[in-house]
Amino acid sequence: MTTISINLQAITERIAAVAQAAGREADSVRLLAVSKTWPAASVREAAGAGQRAFAENYVQEGVGKIIELRHLDLEWHFIGPLQSNKTKAVAENFDWVQSVDRLKIAQRLSAQRSPALPPLQVCIQVNVSGESSKSGISPVEAMPLAHAVAALPRLQLRGLMAIPEASEDIALLRQRFTALRELRGRLVTGGLELDTLSMGMSQDFEMAIAEGATLVRLGTAIFGERST
Ligand SMILES: *Cc1c(COP(=O)(O)O)cnc(C)c1O
Repeated sequence: MTTISINLQAITERIAAVAQAAGREADSVRLLAVSKTWPAASVREAAGAGQRAFAENYVQEGVGKIIELRHLDLEWHFIGPLQSNKTKAVAENFDWVQSVDRLKIAQRLSAQRSPALPPLQVCIQVNVSGESSKSGISPVEAMPLAHAVAALPRLQLRGLMAIPEASEDIALLRQRFTALRELRGRLVTGGLELDTLSMGMSQDFEMAIAEGATLVRLGTAIFGERST
């Protein structure tokens, strides 16, 4: 077995154990492999070990891997900051976009999504850390944005994503995850169907699962330390 497949197996077992300890089904949490900076060969290796969903932060790098690995029929998520001039490449190549934080970006993605493809699956990125983080919409603005995004024809709004600020303060981090879960609860009460709570990375996915994450985004824990 390769290091990547050993890591994937250990993480999958850990996710199941943490979910069950939190009173959740093991399969209520999906693992997203964050392959940014890693070559297509690493993705191929993870795919060979059964991993289906991958995430990229940079448009050009991601599209290159998607095209190279098209025959593997993987699921690709875009999770990085998205500028207007890059939306077309994302709409044409990715299956999901988790970093929608402005209506203009969502409108462009919807307009540029080919009718030949299924609707683009999207999450709204919420800034749960206040001033210390620049990406994501503020929690109070999330409700109107979510309703506007849900109305766009070629997008399917699935839920919320957050990247809390790095912190040694465990209680604070937990509050950030709780805040995202509660925000989704309010949006669901407000009439939106949202099945996805994307939160938790290599350092903190166990806490995120305990707080309700349905999608955890792991890079380092699967592929190793990034050199860039
Ligand atoms: C890089 C990245 C991850 C993965 O981080 P690790 O600490 O390597 O697990 C997850 N989510 C986002 C948005 C990222 O940019």
